[in-house]
This record gives sequence, structure tokens and C-alpha cells, in this order.
Amino acid sequence: MALSHRGREALRAVGLEDEVLSTAIPMRARMIHPLSGNQYSIPYGTKRDDCIYSVNRRALNELLLTKAEESPNISIHFESRLLQADLETNTLVFSDGATGKKTVQTEFVFGCDGAHSTVRRQMMRWGRLNYQQEYIQHGYRELTMPPMEPNFIHIWPHHEFMMITLPNHDKSFTLTLLMPCSLFESVRNEDSLLTLFQAHFPDSINKIGASL
Ligand SMILES: Cc1cc2nc3c(=O)[nH]c(=O)nc-3n(C[C@H](O)[C@H](O)[C@H](O)COP(=O)(O)OP(=O)(O)OC[C@H]3O[C@@H](n4cnc5c(N)ncnc54)[C@H](O)[C@@H]3O)c2cc1C
Repeated sequence: MALSHRGREALRAVGLEDEVLSTAIPMRARMIHPLSGNQYSIPYGTKRDDCIYSVNRRALNELLLTKAEESPNISIHFESRLLQADLETNTLVFSDGATGKKTVQTEFVFGCDGAHSTVRRQMMRWGRLNYQQEYIQHGYRELTMPPMEPNFIHIWPHHEFMMITLPNHDKSFTLTLLMPCSLFESVRNEDSLLTLFQAHFPDSINKIGASL
């Protein structure tokens, strides 16, 4: 995943910025791949240190968990799903094993449970809280791409959608294709996939390979 100023600030606050950056791959510019095929780069800044970084999401998650485990005041409970929260008394009910439940009473509750947050849903039961969720038309697929010019984030821009690749340590790239779901649904077989890439990302075909 791409790591820039905001993520670095958060890592610095928990003393992990240097450790994460020691294995991160600097991306000094965006390499733009227009439909014409004449690729060009747009630097992130004027100095050599002006860059964003590519980090391995799994390795980052593992490091954060390991460091949390080392803190004496943190206990981690896997496979425990928050089911209910009474935010007047800070009483939380979690799933425990396949059928069990456990109740926890706490001084503070920080809800960090993602886009479909149960904490937020429970907050809405206790206060006059409005919340609106809208889905965009786009979905994404990840693919692996063989080595290209390193130290770049490669971008194939389009008005409605785009493809980006971030470098990995084994010199391969992880490619993310972001597109309206309707276009993904139009890809029915190998031929229609190739037609899509010929129309929108022609210079990527040689790099990825034409057959599945
Ligand atoms: C394709 C894609 C590419 C992205 N690329 C980047 C990138 O390059 N750089 C970047 O900075 N960001 C990127 N993002 C965004 C980034 O992944 C999210 O912003 C980030 O993961 C959000 O973190 P979060 O902790 O809020 O939620 P999440 O990562 O969703 O974590 C929520 C956690 O809460 C747990 N949980 C949920 N419900 C419960 C419950 N009831 N009880 C207990 N636990 C629960 C979940 O299991 C999960 O572990 C990308 C996102 C996508 C989809």
C-alpha cells in the first residue's frame, strides 16, 4: 500500500516510522501511461527525499500487532466480534467461541471497526446521530505484474477509471484495477478481458502477458 505524510505521522507517533521506512520502497514520481503510449513521469517534489513509499500491507499489520503485543497494557483477543455496546454504561458484549458471549465493562470505548462499524451502529441507538452511507459505482481487482521501472507508482489514468501499480520487494508490482462494476461485469471471458486491455491499457499487455 502507499504510505505518505499522514501515515508516517501516525507511525512516528507510535515510534515505528523508521522501522517501517527501513523496508519500504520509495516512489519518487508517478509514471503516467497515457493511451498514446508515450509514458512520462511527474515527481512528488523537487528534492530527492520528496517521495511516498510502497509498503507491504500484511507486513505492516503484523508489525503493528507484534508491537501492540509487547505493550504490557494491551491484550489482544482474536475471534471476538463486538455484538452490542451500551455506551451509557460502557458495557460491551462480544462473541466468545462459536456460540458463547462475554461481557466487558470499560472506562473508554474507541470504535475502530471499519466501514461497517458496529460501534457506530450502536452509537446511533443511544444518541441523535445521523449517518449516511453511499456506494460508488466502482470496484477493484488486484493482479501481479512482472518487474518495471522501480521507484515509481505507475498509473494508467482514465476519466472514469484507472489502473495503478505499486512496487514489491521481489521487484514484481501489485496492480490494482479500479473500474465501474458494470465494466467488470462485461468481462465474461479471456477474449473480452484482452479487448478491454487493448482498448484502455494497451502498453500494459506486453508487461502482464496476453494469456491467462
Ligand atoms: C483497494 C484499496 C486500496 C487501498 N490502498 C491504500 C493505500 O495504498 N494507502 C492507504 O493509506 N490506504 C489505502 N486504502 C485504504 C485503507 O485500506 C483503509 O483506509 C483502512 O484499512 C481503514 O482502516 P480501519 O482500521 O478504519 O478499518 P479496517 O481496515 O476495515 O479495519 C477494521 C477492523 O475491525 C474489525 N471489525 C469489524 N467489525 C468488528 C466487530 N463487530 N467486532 C470486532 N472487530 C470488528 C475488522 O475485522 C477489521 O480488522 C485502500 C483501500 C482499498 C479498498
